[in-house]
Amino acid sequence: MRKKLLMGNWKMNKTLSEALSFAKQTDEIIALAVKHNIDLGIAPTYLCLKDVKENVNENLIVSSQNVHFEDHGAFTGEISIPMLKDINIDWSIIGHSERRTYDNETDEKCNKKIIALIQNNMTPIYCVGETLTQFENGDTKKVIDTQIRNGLANLSSEQVKNLVIAYEPVWSIGTGKNASKEIAQDICKFIRDILLDMFGEVSQDIRILYGGSVKPENIKQYLSCPDVDGALVGGASLNIDSYKQLLINII
Ligand code: PEP
Repeated sequence: MRKKLLMGNWKMNKTLSEALSFAKQTDEIIALAVKHNIDLGIAPTYLCLKDVKENVNENLIVSSQNVHFEDHGAFTGEISIPMLKDINIDWSIIGHSERRTYDNETDEKCNKKIIALIQNNMTPIYCVGETLTQFENGDTKKVIDTQIRNGLANLSSEQVKNLVIAYEPVWSIGTGKNASKEIAQDICKFIRDILLDMFGEVSQDIRILYGGSVKPENIKQYLSCPDVDGALVGGASLNIDSYKQLLINII
């Protein structure tokens, strides 16, 4: 049985003091998540990672939003895996559509990052999803197939067992336009079938999240789908009450 995962992506939001204020209000929510066997996490900005990590219960996953694949070097503005490990961060989102759109994040670059994370016993959350044009042209499955196969190339079944995938249709991120639960289930199942083809039975253990305008009011329908194992949530994870309500509504 795959453990449910609710992950908040804070994007470029919250100053350090705002992030700490949120962190200090999480004890009750974390206890609730532990009681109901649900993994709960947040992905603050780089600047806030260390302080947030030090101020939350160890059961809250604190994830980076990105990482570079090289350990060190002349990569101005980047952060490396050893830097994250040094502050006890062992999760990272990879290939978020905003990074694919604004920062030239390609499947090949994502693949290097995913390999580097796994080699360092860290957990990648690999984001895939089609744009509105691709969706309207009926190309969703072709796009997802390419992103999954290229992003997860050169990995073994043993290596991918802790990987998390997030299916996030780009047209639904931050737009308030949700994919229906039928679309979410269809594409998450499609992803699981690709994983079965690439890695065999371990595909049954890999968690696949849905993301895109998930809110307390609509989260339950997604989590009721057999191949949706949780949610990656942007806007609705920023406020402590709505973050808590997301959890309460899937218990
Ligand atoms: C996201 O940032 O991954 C996301 C899905 O954002 P939102 O929930 O705001 O659509």
